[in-house]
Amino acid sequence: MDENCNSLDCALPEIGYLVASILFIMGLKKLGHPRTAPTGNLYGAMGMLVAVVVTIAQMDFGETNNFILIISGLAIGGFIGYLMAVRVQMTGMPEMVALFNGFGGAASALVAASEVFRRINENDLPEGLELYVAWTAIGLSALVGWVTLTGSLLAMMKLKGGVEIFGTWYRTPTWGPEWLNYIKGLVLISIVGLLYMTIEESGNQDYVIAIIALSSILGILFVLPIGGADMPVVVSLLNSLSGIAAAFTGFIIGNNVLIIAGSMVGAAGLILTNIMCKAMNRQLIDVLFKSFGGSDKEQVTRTKVGSDPEEVAMVCDGISKCIIIPGYGMAVSQCQHQVREFADILEANGCEVKYGIHPVAGRMPGHMNVLLAEASVPYEKLIEMDDINSEMGECDVAIVVGANDTVNPAARSGEGPLAGMPIIDADKARVVVMVKRSLSVGYAGVDNDLFYEDKTMMLFGDGKQMMTELVSSLKDL
Ligand code: NDP
Repeated sequence: MDENCNSLDCALPEIGYLVASILFIMGLKKLGHPRTAPTGNLYGAMGMLVAVVVTIAQMDFGETNNFILIISGLAIGGFIGYLMAVRVQMTGMPEMVALFNGFGGAASALVAASEVFRRINENDLPEGLELYVAWTAIGLSALVGWVTLTGSLLAMMKLKGGVEIFGTWYRTPTWGPEWLNYIKGLVLISIVGLLYMTIEESGNQDYVIAIIALSSILGILFVLPIGGADMPVVVSLLNSLSGIAAAFTGFIIGNNVLIIAGSMVGAAGLILTNIMCKAMNRQLIDVLFKSFGGSDKEQVTRTKVGSDPEEVAMVCDGISKCIIIPGYGMAVSQCQHQVREFADILEANGCEVKYGIHPVAGRMPGHMNVLLAEASVPYEKLIEMDDINSEMGECDVAIVVGANDTVNPAARSGEGPLAGMPIIDADKARVVVMVKRSLSVGYAGVDNDLFYEDKTMMLFGDGKQMMTELVSSLKDL
């Protein structure tokens, strides 16, 4: 705030930013539970609206066309965002989240870059300590922002599985020999050197451009080796980085709300990364510097005779405990309503039904909770992995709906892309029913021994169709 200013007019922007920050904090708090998450989302959006309006209201456009430029940018960006949000399928959400992380990083880095170029061109260079602080913040914003952009774009393509160019499908590679870590180290040291040079020769923008180029390469090198079960960790880490880049930029342009919002995203992302690491039984350092998963999917050579819905309905008749384990296939087939209907019938027959939720089931944290909440499954029936595993031994039938990696006993073997990942012990139930279209592998590309066990019944077909038929077979009994 202007030191000479003590009128309410001058305090208004700061009060506006304070309101925006409070809305962000309340929004984040409410996002912690599926029931309150939609309100949390709304608070966050309102906070962002307040922050944008307050920022524009403070600007002095004079005789320039900048106001039209800003409003056009807002309108075009808002329209594209709206289109993306209404068109995205539930299964495409993780890719969209990854893309938005990247855009967040890029936006911060672009603002920081434009600020440094402006200062250089207008010869408005800081001096002394201020130079060190400002140019270090600009360098760090460029580093974190561009790493986030290119890393997120690659992560998005990994979640998608690949890209189609002129009718040919190219699978996103996962590649990372040990020596790549030395290259990454070298690139990072070069960036630090360049950062030093930006301060030494503060009027030379070539060093900033070189930082942008090397950081973009570093983002790709950083995500390239990560695959299989480690993707959830890297996506939440990139989310955190996008916030950190915003905080640096807020510092550079002296915008308090950007510092607060960026720090909150950074901190929330780091907490989520920590939760993901624990859930996946991984050390962050291993995720970042060891390549676990190859990009090759295992070839499935074994066969198994499928069951039909009538047979499964007969097995479910009269049971006293059923645990439903949903996975990515439930999101693909959108069969959460049929799953709920199936559970309702069992419960009406006196069976206890619970849902076992693996922390990385689906393609983003909370994916299954959101889908099941949409089908009005009561929250208290969604049981976390450790708790549900302690009940698995007394479960009559485990119904695995479109899940694969998260129930794959190969994770216990200590080898391969799933090594060490905790799983839901579906194999401890008396009977296992797997609802999926084929014997094909899951996201991590590992064949699943559970399919071939004698107690496992394979219900081959689309999740929605199979669950619908299962419901009507149960009703016919
Ligand atoms: P998986 O990807 O392991 O398996 C999903 C299964 O769903 C597939 O094997 C597929 O088999 C089946 N499927 C696909 N479409 C349908 C359909 N229409 N109807 C019925 N089944 C279908 O999923 P999980 O949820 O078990 O595991 C999640 C994986 O994703 C983990 O490896 C995790 O690390 C990774 N991941 C998770 C993220 C997160 O944050 N949650 C983020 C990024 C990655 P078939 O083709 O035979 O039908």
